[in-house]
Amino acid sequence: MERRDYYEILGLNRNASEAEVKKAYRRLAKQYHPDLNKDDPDAENKFKEMKEAYDVLSDPRKREHYDRFGHQAGGPGGFEGFGGTGFGQAGFGGIDEIFEQFFGGMGGMGARRRQRGPEQGDHLRYDLEITLEEAFHGGEKVITIPRTETCPDCEGKKTKSAGGSETCPSCGGSGQQQYTRSTPFGRFVSMQVCGNCRGEGVIISDPCPTCSAQGRIVQERKIEIKIPPGVEDGSRLRVSGGGEAGVRGGPSGDLYVVFRIRPHKVFQRKGSDLWIEETISISQAALGVEKEVPTLEGTATLRIPEGTQHGTTFRLKGQGMPHLRGSGRGDLRATVKVSVPKRLTPRQKELLEEFAYLNGEEVGVENKGFFDRMKDAFGGG
Ligand SMILES: [Zn+2]
Ligand SMILES: [Zn+2]
Repeated sequence: MERRDYYEILGLNRNASEAEVKKAYRRLAKQYHPDLNKDDPDAENKFKEMKEAYDVLSDPRKREHYDRFGHQAGGPGGFEGFGGTGFGQAGFGGIDEIFEQFFGGMGGMGARRRQRGPEQGDHLRYDLEITLEEAFHGGEKVITIPRTETCPDCEGKKTKSAGGSETCPSCGGSGQQQYTRSTPFGRFVSMQVCGNCRGEGVIISDPCPTCSAQGRIVQERKIEIKIPPGVEDGSRLRVSGGGEAGVRGGPSGDLYVVFRIRPHKVFQRKGSDLWIEETISISQAALGVEKEVPTLEGTATLRIPEGTQHGTTFRLKGQGMPHLRGSGRGDLRATVKVSVPKRLTPRQKELLEEFAYLNGEEVGVENKGFFDRMKDAFGGG
């Protein structure tokens, strides 16, 4: 197979910057990654070719050689040191690893890193929907979350056999390689992530079958969540260490539980107060009444005094939600709606007409429609 020009493979011109090389690789890695192109047998070759081009062009020293001597530079096997990349030895890295390499983990807050030391696992978020009653009483709830955990079979070592991993010969286990460049201005030494082990410091020859040499696997995990009484919609609870397992001995990330409170049929919540609407009749509004109104624990007595107007709000102290911080509870607020009867018996009508007469009010509708006049004439209605 004729070897294509590395710049051509990455679609770059000869003076492309380091950032442009990286950008081109990132784009092509996603395009040709074998995990994403299971139906295209050619994708693997394209991926290898692209990876090789990247390994050379992203390394200032190799790039300089390549610019001067082309493919002949390192003989038929290419450059020393890059014949066996991490990809070649341990199989293709998962697509996640490529993202990880560039973005520091999918949920890793975008932190870029150069060195591959211990690293905290990603944080997880779980939205937990609860009822208003559950928010009122508090309690415990068990949730099930899928999360990556340290592989139990290899304990994160990526291999189960004693000789299954060896110290990387290229970097001696440091995960970094030192490059010396001679220029007219002097010798420059730069450190780079080892291309052979991708900074891991070890090469896995006998991968753990449980985790495919990832050191971590996804597990469904049950976690008990304590619901604090009075918890609010959107309240966040942090479970320290409840997130994804760390990498290379790093601590686990945290789990953030975000509470979502389902709307209630009767109660509306505003802070730690609960609001209800209470419908009463015109006579109850005029004469006053004591009514049993619902609370989250049962009922309470609401005293509605004589002459209460439509829309009046009453307060039942301490019948609301528990305060999330501090002690005590909010209030229950009942807004009164006065309902006017739609049908009256002849006797009720008589009494209301008498009431209106005593009040000096005019009642009745004068301009009845044709239909009503006919009904009156024939004694209907
Ligand atoms: Zn394992
Ligand atoms: Zn190495």
